[in-house]
Amino acid sequence: MTTPSNALSWVTSANGHSDFPLHNLPLGVFSCDGLSKRGGVAIGEMIFDLRAALDAGFFNGAARDAAEAASRDQLNDFFALGAPARRALRSELLHLLDRSSPQLSRLQPLAETLLHPMAECQMHVPARIGDYTDFYVGIHHAMNVGKLFRPDNPLLPNYKYVPIGYHGRASTICISDTPVKRPNGQTLAPGAVVPEFGPSKRLDYELEMGVWIGPGNTMGEAISIVDAAEHIAGFCLLNDWSARDLQAWEYQPLGPFLSKSFATSISAWVVTAEALEPFRTAQPARPEGDPQPLPYLLDAADQQGGALDIELEVLLITEQMKEQGMAPQRLALSNTQNMYWTVAQMVSHHSVNGCKLQPGDLFGTGTLSGPQAGQFGSLLEISEGGKTALTLASGESRRFLETGDEVIFRARCRREGYASIGFGECRGVVL
Ligand code: CA
Repeated sequence: MTTPSNALSWVTSANGHSDFPLHNLPLGVFSCDGLSKRGGVAIGEMIFDLRAALDAGFFNGAARDAAEAASRDQLNDFFALGAPARRALRSELLHLLDRSSPQLSRLQPLAETLLHPMAECQMHVPARIGDYTDFYVGIHHAMNVGKLFRPDNPLLPNYKYVPIGYHGRASTICISDTPVKRPNGQTLAPGAVVPEFGPSKRLDYELEMGVWIGPGNTMGEAISIVDAAEHIAGFCLLNDWSARDLQAWEYQPLGPFLSKSFATSISAWVVTAEALEPFRTAQPARPEGDPQPLPYLLDAADQQGGALDIELEVLLITEQMKEQGMAPQRLALSNTQNMYWTVAQMVSHHSVNGCKLQPGDLFGTGTLSGPQAGQFGSLLEISEGGKTALTLASGESRRFLETGDEVIFRARCRREGYASIGFGECRGVVL
Protein backbone atom coordinates (compact mmCIF):
# COMPACT_ATOMS: atom_id res chain seq x y z
CA MET A 1 0.00 0.00 0.00
CA THR A 2 2.93 2.31 -0.69
CA THR A 3 1.68 5.62 -2.06
CA PRO A 4 3.50 6.65 -5.27
CA SER A 5 6.18 9.22 -4.50
CA ASN A 6 4.65 11.70 -6.94
CA ALA A 7 1.10 11.41 -5.55
CA LEU A 8 -0.42 14.83 -4.91
CA SER A 9 -3.16 16.09 -2.64
CA TRP A 10 -5.88 18.58 -3.47
CA VAL A 11 -4.77 20.28 -0.24
CA THR A 12 -2.19 22.20 -2.22
CA SER A 13 0.05 23.17 0.73
CA ALA A 14 0.75 19.44 1.22
CA ASN A 15 2.47 19.07 -2.14
CA GLY A 16 6.21 19.32 -1.60
CA HIS A 17 5.63 20.06 2.10
CA SER A 18 8.80 19.19 4.02
CA ASP A 19 6.93 17.53 6.91
CA PHE A 20 3.35 16.70 6.01
CA PRO A 21 2.82 15.69 2.37
CA LEU A 22 0.06 13.22 1.49
CA HIS A 23 2.46 10.36 2.31
CA ASN A 24 2.75 11.16 6.02
CA LEU A 25 -0.74 11.75 7.52
CA PRO A 26 0.33 11.87 11.19
CA LEU A 27 -2.31 12.11 13.91
CA GLY A 28 -2.54 14.58 16.76
CA VAL A 29 -4.92 16.25 19.18
CA PHE A 30 -5.78 19.90 18.55
CA SER A 31 -8.21 22.62 19.51
CA CYS A 32 -8.97 25.96 17.97
CA ASP A 33 -11.27 28.88 18.41
CA GLY A 34 -14.71 27.53 19.24
CA LEU A 35 -13.69 23.87 18.84
CA SER A 36 -12.95 21.58 21.78
CA LYS A 37 -9.95 19.22 21.88
CA ARG A 38 -10.20 16.53 19.21
CA GLY A 39 -8.16 14.29 16.94
CA GLY A 40 -6.92 15.49 13.60
CA VAL A 41 -4.55 14.64 10.78
CA ALA A 42 -1.80 16.93 9.51
CA ILE A 43 -1.88 17.57 5.77
CA GLY A 44 0.37 20.38 4.54
CA GLU A 45 -0.37 23.54 6.51
CA MET A 46 -3.83 22.24 7.47
CA ILE A 47 -5.41 19.92 10.03
CA PHE A 48 -8.13 17.56 8.87
CA ASP A 49 -10.77 17.42 11.62
CA LEU A 50 -11.65 13.77 12.28
CA ARG A 51 -14.64 14.49 14.51
CA ALA A 52 -16.22 16.79 11.96
CA ALA A 53 -15.46 14.25 9.23
CA LEU A 54 -17.37 11.58 11.15
CA ASP A 55 -20.29 13.95 11.65
CA ALA A 56 -20.26 14.60 7.90
CA GLY A 57 -20.53 10.85 7.23
CA PHE A 58 -17.00 10.08 6.07
CA PHE A 59 -15.34 6.69 6.71
CA ASN A 60 -16.75 3.16 6.68
CA GLY A 61 -16.18 -0.11 8.52
CA ALA A 62 -12.85 -0.49 10.29
CA ALA A 63 -11.77 2.97 9.17
CA ARG A 64 -14.86 4.44 10.83
CA ASP A 65 -14.10 2.65 14.11
CA ALA A 66 -10.53 3.91 13.92
CA ALA A 67 -11.63 7.47 13.10
CA GLU A 68 -14.06 7.44 16.02
CA ALA A 69 -11.30 6.38 18.41
CA ALA A 70 -8.89 8.92 16.91
CA SER A 71 -11.41 11.78 17.02
CA ARG A 72 -11.50 11.96 20.83
CA ASP A 73 -9.52 14.32 23.05
CA GLN A 74 -6.79 11.67 23.42
CA LEU A 75 -5.47 8.97 21.10
CA ASN A 76 -5.27 6.17 23.71
CA ASP A 77 -8.34 4.38 22.33
CA PHE A 78 -6.97 4.66 18.82
CA PHE A 79 -3.56 3.30 19.88
CA ALA A 80 -5.35 0.40 21.60
CA LEU A 81 -6.97 -0.70 18.30
CA GLY A 82 -3.58 -1.57 16.84
CA ALA A 83 -2.20 -1.81 13.34
CA PRO A 84 -5.21 -3.10 11.29
CA ALA A 85 -7.41 -0.17 12.37
CA ARG A 86 -4.60 2.30 11.79
CA ARG A 87 -4.05 0.94 8.27
CA ALA A 88 -7.76 1.06 7.47
CA LEU A 89 -7.95 4.72 8.49
CA ARG A 90 -4.80 5.60 6.56
CA SER A 91 -6.14 3.92 3.46
CA GLU A 92 -9.40 5.94 3.53
CA LEU A 93 -7.56 9.17 4.32
CA LEU A 94 -5.23 8.62 1.36
CA HIS A 95 -8.24 8.06 -0.85
CA LEU A 96 -10.01 11.13 0.49
CA LEU A 97 -7.08 13.55 0.25
CA ASP A 98 -5.49 12.33 -3.00
CA ARG A 99 -5.96 14.70 -5.92
CA SER A 100 -6.42 11.80 -8.36
CA SER A 101 -9.10 10.09 -6.30
CA PRO A 102 -11.94 8.96 -8.60
CA GLN A 103 -14.64 10.43 -6.34
CA LEU A 104 -12.83 13.74 -5.95
CA SER A 105 -15.58 15.95 -7.37
CA ARG A 106 -18.04 14.45 -4.89
CA LEU A 107 -15.72 14.37 -1.84
CA GLN A 108 -13.64 17.52 -2.08
CA PRO A 109 -16.28 20.25 -1.57
CA LEU A 110 -17.39 18.72 1.72
CA ALA A 111 -13.90 17.64 2.85
CA GLU A 112 -12.63 21.18 2.32
CA THR A 113 -14.90 22.40 5.09
CA LEU A 114 -13.21 20.01 7.52
CA LEU A 115 -9.78 21.64 7.30
CA HIS A 116 -8.37 24.12 9.81
CA PRO A 117 -5.20 26.16 9.26
CA MET A 118 -2.55 24.67 11.55
CA ALA A 119 -1.31 28.14 12.44
CA GLU A 120 -4.68 28.93 14.05
CA CYS A 121 -4.82 25.73 16.13
CA GLN A 122 -3.38 24.74 19.48
CA MET A 123 -1.78 21.30 19.75
CA HIS A 124 -2.02 19.12 22.87
CA VAL A 125 -0.20 16.10 24.30
CA PRO A 126 -1.83 13.45 22.09
CA ALA A 127 -2.53 10.80 24.74
CA ARG A 128 -3.01 10.35 28.47
CA ILE A 129 0.43 8.96 29.20
CA GLY A 130 0.18 6.29 31.85
CA ASP A 131 3.86 5.53 32.05
CA TYR A 132 6.96 7.01 30.53
CA THR A 133 10.20 5.04 30.23
CA ASP A 134 13.45 6.52 29.02
CA PHE A 135 15.95 4.15 27.45
CA TYR A 136 19.66 4.65 26.75
CA VAL A 137 20.07 2.95 23.38
CA GLY A 138 22.13 5.69 21.69
CA ILE A 139 25.48 3.94 21.98
CA HIS A 140 27.59 6.94 20.98
CA HIS A 141 25.94 9.08 23.65
CA ALA A 142 26.55 6.31 26.18
CA MET A 143 30.20 6.17 25.06
CA ASN A 144 30.68 9.96 25.02
CA VAL A 145 29.15 10.42 28.46
CA GLY A 146 30.82 7.29 29.84
CA LYS A 147 34.22 8.63 28.72
CA LEU A 148 33.70 11.80 30.77
CA PHE A 149 33.36 9.72 33.94
CA ARG A 150 35.33 6.54 33.11
CA PRO A 151 37.86 7.29 30.33
CA ASP A 152 39.23 3.73 30.31
CA ASN A 153 35.91 1.92 30.58
CA PRO A 154 33.13 4.09 29.09
CA LEU A 155 30.49 1.37 28.69
CA LEU A 156 29.38 -0.65 31.69
CA PRO A 157 29.39 -4.44 31.19
CA ASN A 158 25.59 -4.72 30.95
CA TYR A 159 25.21 -2.28 28.02
CA LYS A 160 25.59 -4.78 25.17
CA TYR A 161 23.21 -7.27 26.80
CA VAL A 162 20.46 -5.09 28.29
CA PRO A 163 18.50 -2.27 26.63
CA ILE A 164 19.13 0.04 29.62
CA GLY A 165 16.26 2.23 30.78
CA TYR A 166 14.65 3.89 33.79
CA HIS A 167 11.13 4.92 34.69
CA GLY A 168 10.55 8.59 33.99
CA ARG A 169 7.78 10.96 34.98
CA ALA A 170 4.67 11.13 32.77
CA SER A 171 3.03 14.09 34.55
CA THR A 172 5.51 16.68 33.28
CA ILE A 173 5.56 15.64 29.63
CA CYS A 174 4.58 18.75 27.72
CA ILE A 175 3.74 19.58 24.15
CA SER A 176 6.19 21.41 21.90
CA ASP A 177 6.27 25.18 22.45
CA THR A 178 5.64 24.89 26.20
CA PRO A 179 8.25 27.06 27.99
CA VAL A 180 10.50 25.14 30.39
CA LYS A 181 11.29 26.58 33.80
CA ARG A 182 14.83 26.11 35.05
CA PRO A 183 14.58 23.68 37.97
CA ASN A 184 15.82 24.20 41.51
CA GLY A 185 17.63 21.46 43.32
CA GLN A 186 20.66 20.23 45.21
CA THR A 187 24.08 20.44 43.62
CA LEU A 188 27.53 19.65 44.90
CA ALA A 189 30.18 22.18 43.88
CA PRO A 190 33.59 20.72 42.86
CA GLY A 191 35.57 19.91 45.98
CA ALA A 192 32.64 20.55 48.31
CA VAL A 193 31.25 17.94 50.70
CA VAL A 194 27.97 19.68 51.50
CA PRO A 195 25.48 20.44 48.68
CA GLU A 196 23.95 23.81 47.98
CA PHE A 197 20.36 24.50 46.90
CA GLY A 198 19.35 26.72 44.00
CA PRO A 199 18.62 26.91 40.27
CA SER A 200 20.47 24.45 38.05
CA LYS A 201 23.53 26.00 36.42
CA ARG A 202 24.00 23.14 33.96
CA LEU A 203 20.70 22.86 32.11
CA ASP A 204 20.85 20.71 28.99
CA TYR A 205 18.68 19.06 26.33
CA GLU A 206 18.76 15.48 25.04
CA LEU A 207 17.87 14.65 21.42
CA GLU A 208 15.62 11.58 21.47
CA MET A 209 12.86 9.87 19.56
CA GLY A 210 9.60 9.20 21.41
CA VAL A 211 7.79 5.90 20.82
CA TRP A 212 4.02 5.66 21.37
CA ILE A 213 2.87 2.26 22.58
CA GLY A 214 -0.13 0.55 20.95
CA PRO A 215 -2.25 -2.34 22.30
CA GLY A 216 0.20 -3.58 24.95
CA ASN A 217 0.04 -6.73 27.07
CA THR A 218 -1.60 -8.12 30.15
CA MET A 219 0.42 -8.23 33.34
CA GLY A 220 2.55 -11.36 33.52
CA GLU A 221 2.65 -11.95 29.76
CA ALA A 222 5.65 -10.81 27.76
CA ILE A 223 5.45 -9.32 24.26
CA SER A 224 7.54 -11.54 22.00
CA ILE A 225 10.17 -9.84 19.86
CA VAL A 226 8.29 -11.32 16.86
CA ASP A 227 5.11 -9.41 17.79
CA ALA A 228 6.71 -6.27 19.22
CA ALA A 229 6.27 -4.11 16.12
CA GLU A 230 2.49 -4.59 16.37
CA HIS A 231 2.61 -2.79 19.72
CA ILE A 232 4.24 0.38 18.40
CA ALA A 233 1.64 2.97 17.42
CA GLY A 234 3.92 5.72 16.22
CA PHE A 235 6.80 8.08 16.79
CA CYS A 236 7.53 11.66 17.80
CA LEU A 237 10.51 13.82 18.76
CA LEU A 238 11.37 14.03 22.44
CA ASN A 239 13.56 16.44 24.42
CA ASP A 240 14.60 14.95 27.74
CA TRP A 241 15.57 18.22 29.47
CA SER A 242 18.33 17.43 31.95
CA ALA A 243 19.85 19.36 34.86
CA ARG A 244 23.39 17.94 34.78
CA ASP A 245 24.48 19.38 38.13
CA LEU A 246 21.45 17.91 39.91
CA GLN A 247 21.97 14.65 38.06
CA ALA A 248 25.65 14.29 39.02
CA TRP A 249 24.81 14.59 42.73
CA GLU A 250 21.63 12.50 42.87
CA TYR A 251 22.03 9.69 40.31
CA GLN A 252 23.84 7.08 42.40
CA PRO A 253 22.70 4.47 43.24
CA LEU A 254 19.19 4.52 41.69
CA GLY A 255 19.59 6.70 38.59
CA PRO A 256 18.13 10.05 37.50
CA PHE A 257 15.34 11.57 39.60
CA LEU A 258 14.68 15.32 39.91
CA SER A 259 17.32 16.13 37.28
CA LYS A 260 14.94 14.82 34.60
CA SER A 261 11.40 14.89 35.99
CA PHE A 262 10.81 18.67 35.78
CA ALA A 263 10.01 18.64 32.03
CA THR A 264 10.08 16.47 28.91
CA SER A 265 8.97 18.03 25.62
CA ILE A 266 7.44 16.11 22.72
CA SER A 267 6.48 17.03 19.18
CA ALA A 268 2.75 17.12 18.56
CA TRP A 269 2.27 14.75 15.63
CA VAL A 270 2.29 10.96 15.89
CA VAL A 271 4.04 9.66 12.78
CA THR A 272 2.76 6.16 12.17
CA ALA A 273 4.68 2.97 11.48
CA GLU A 274 2.95 2.87 8.06
CA ALA A 275 4.26 6.32 7.07
CA LEU A 276 7.75 5.25 8.18
CA GLU A 277 7.65 1.94 6.29
CA PRO A 278 9.82 3.19 3.35
CA PHE A 279 12.46 4.40 5.82
CA ARG A 280 12.96 1.08 7.59
CA THR A 281 16.42 -0.33 7.34
CA ALA A 282 18.56 -3.16 8.69
CA GLN A 283 19.85 -2.84 12.23
CA PRO A 284 23.52 -1.87 11.81
CA ALA A 285 25.83 -4.84 12.35
CA ARG A 286 27.35 -5.01 15.80
CA PRO A 287 31.08 -4.32 15.93
CA GLU A 288 33.38 -7.35 15.84
CA GLY A 289 33.63 -8.88 19.29
CA ASP A 290 30.25 -7.62 20.58
CA PRO A 291 27.91 -10.32 21.92
CA GLN A 292 24.78 -11.35 20.00
CA PRO A 293 21.54 -10.27 21.68
CA LEU A 294 20.07 -12.99 23.90
CA PRO A 295 17.49 -15.13 22.02
CA TYR A 296 14.46 -13.30 23.46
CA LEU A 297 15.78 -10.08 21.84
CA LEU A 298 16.81 -11.58 18.53
CA ASP A 299 14.48 -11.86 15.55
CA ALA A 300 15.69 -12.12 11.96
CA ALA A 301 12.97 -9.86 10.53
CA ASP A 302 13.65 -7.24 13.19
CA GLN A 303 17.38 -7.33 12.46
CA GLN A 304 16.73 -7.08 8.71
CA GLY A 305 14.22 -4.23 8.77
CA GLY A 306 13.54 -3.08 12.33
CA ALA A 307 15.82 -0.05 12.39
CA LEU A 308 14.87 3.42 11.15
CA ASP A 309 16.73 5.86 8.92
CA ILE A 310 15.58 9.24 10.22
CA GLU A 311 17.78 12.31 10.10
CA LEU A 312 17.66 14.25 13.37
CA GLU A 313 18.60 17.89 13.83
CA VAL A 314 19.18 20.12 16.87
CA LEU A 315 19.02 23.90 16.53
CA LEU A 316 19.46 26.67 19.07
CA ILE A 317 18.32 30.28 18.99
CA THR A 318 19.18 32.68 21.80
CA GLU A 319 17.32 35.83 22.81
CA GLN A 320 20.10 37.92 21.30
CA MET A 321 19.92 36.01 18.02
CA LYS A 322 16.16 36.66 17.89
CA GLU A 323 16.70 40.37 18.55
CA GLN A 324 19.26 40.49 15.74
CA GLY A 325 16.91 38.67 13.36
CA MET A 326 19.25 35.69 13.07
CA ALA A 327 18.08 32.20 12.14
CA PRO A 328 18.38 29.30 14.58
CA GLN A 329 21.84 27.72 14.50
CA ARG A 330 22.30 24.02 13.90
CA LEU A 331 24.16 22.35 16.76
CA ALA A 332 23.92 18.75 15.60
CA LEU A 333 22.85 16.46 12.80
CA SER A 334 22.39 12.84 13.78
CA ASN A 335 20.38 9.77 12.76
CA THR A 336 18.24 7.08 14.36
CA GLN A 337 20.70 4.50 13.02
CA ASN A 338 22.82 5.35 16.06
CA MET A 339 20.57 3.09 18.14
CA TYR A 340 22.28 -0.02 19.48
CA TRP A 341 18.88 -1.67 20.08
CA THR A 342 15.78 -1.56 17.86
CA VAL A 343 12.47 -0.22 19.11
CA ALA A 344 11.06 -3.77 18.98
CA GLN A 345 13.87 -4.90 21.28
CA MET A 346 12.99 -2.08 23.68
CA VAL A 347 9.33 -3.21 23.74
CA SER A 348 10.20 -6.86 24.13
CA HIS A 349 12.74 -6.25 26.88
CA HIS A 350 10.44 -3.91 28.80
CA SER A 351 7.70 -6.55 28.97
CA VAL A 352 9.83 -9.71 29.31
CA ASN A 353 9.44 -9.75 33.10
CA GLY A 354 5.65 -9.43 32.79
CA CYS A 355 5.54 -5.64 33.13
CA LYS A 356 2.30 -4.32 31.62
CA LEU A 357 2.57 -1.85 28.73
CA GLN A 358 -0.58 0.13 27.95
CA PRO A 359 -1.90 2.14 24.99
CA GLY A 360 -0.49 5.66 25.24
CA ASP A 361 2.61 4.72 27.23
CA LEU A 362 5.61 6.60 25.94
CA PHE A 363 9.21 5.47 25.52
CA GLY A 364 12.21 7.72 24.95
CA THR A 365 15.02 6.10 23.01
CA GLY A 366 17.82 7.84 24.89
CA THR A 367 20.02 10.52 23.37
CA LEU A 368 20.79 9.74 19.74
CA SER A 369 24.26 11.14 19.19
CA GLY A 370 26.58 10.18 16.37
CA PRO A 371 30.23 9.30 16.93
CA GLN A 372 31.69 12.58 15.68
CA ALA A 373 31.66 16.28 16.51
CA GLY A 374 28.63 17.89 14.88
CA GLN A 375 26.54 14.82 15.70
CA PHE A 376 26.26 15.17 19.48
CA GLY A 377 22.71 15.22 20.89
CA SER A 378 23.43 17.11 24.13
CA LEU A 379 25.49 20.09 25.31
CA LEU A 380 27.14 17.81 27.86
CA GLU A 381 28.84 16.09 24.94
CA ILE A 382 29.46 19.25 22.87
CA SER A 383 31.10 21.05 25.81
CA GLU A 384 32.90 17.91 27.04
CA GLY A 385 31.21 18.06 30.38
CA GLY A 386 31.28 21.87 30.51
CA LYS A 387 35.03 22.15 29.85
CA THR A 388 34.91 23.83 26.42
CA ALA A 389 32.55 26.60 25.39
CA LEU A 390 30.68 26.52 22.10
CA THR A 391 30.85 29.82 20.19
CA LEU A 392 27.63 30.74 18.41
CA ALA A 393 27.26 32.76 15.20
CA SER A 394 26.09 35.70 17.36
CA GLY A 395 29.45 35.67 19.18
CA GLU A 396 27.82 34.36 22.36
CA SER A 397 29.24 31.27 24.00
CA ARG A 398 27.48 28.32 25.62
CA ARG A 399 28.50 25.45 27.85
CA PHE A 400 24.92 24.84 28.96
CA LEU A 401 21.56 26.55 28.31
CA GLU A 402 20.97 30.15 29.36
CA THR A 403 17.66 31.85 30.06
CA GLY A 404 15.84 32.71 26.83
CA ASP A 405 17.56 29.99 24.82
CA GLU A 406 15.17 28.06 22.61
CA VAL A 407 15.99 24.49 21.59
CA ILE A 408 14.45 23.13 18.38
CA PHE A 409 14.49 19.52 17.19
CA ARG A 410 13.51 18.49 13.67
CA ALA A 411 13.47 15.10 11.95
CA ARG A 412 13.39 14.18 8.29
CA CYS A 413 13.08 10.91 6.38
CA ARG A 414 14.56 10.77 2.89
CA ARG A 415 15.05 7.89 0.52
CA GLU A 416 15.59 7.75 -3.23
CA GLY A 417 12.31 6.99 -4.97
CA TYR A 418 10.10 7.98 -2.01
CA ALA A 419 8.49 11.22 -0.92
CA SER A 420 10.29 12.77 2.07
CA ILE A 421 8.35 13.22 5.27
CA GLY A 422 9.11 15.03 8.52
CA PHE A 423 7.96 15.18 12.11
CA GLY A 424 7.22 18.87 12.65
CA GLU A 425 9.19 20.57 15.41
CA CYS A 426 9.80 19.93 19.08
CA ARG A 427 10.55 23.34 20.62
CA GLY A 428 11.06 24.73 24.08
CA VAL A 429 12.38 28.01 25.48
CA VAL A 430 14.16 28.16 28.84
CA LEU A 431 12.63 30.52 31.41
CA1 CA B 1 17.46 10.67 28.28
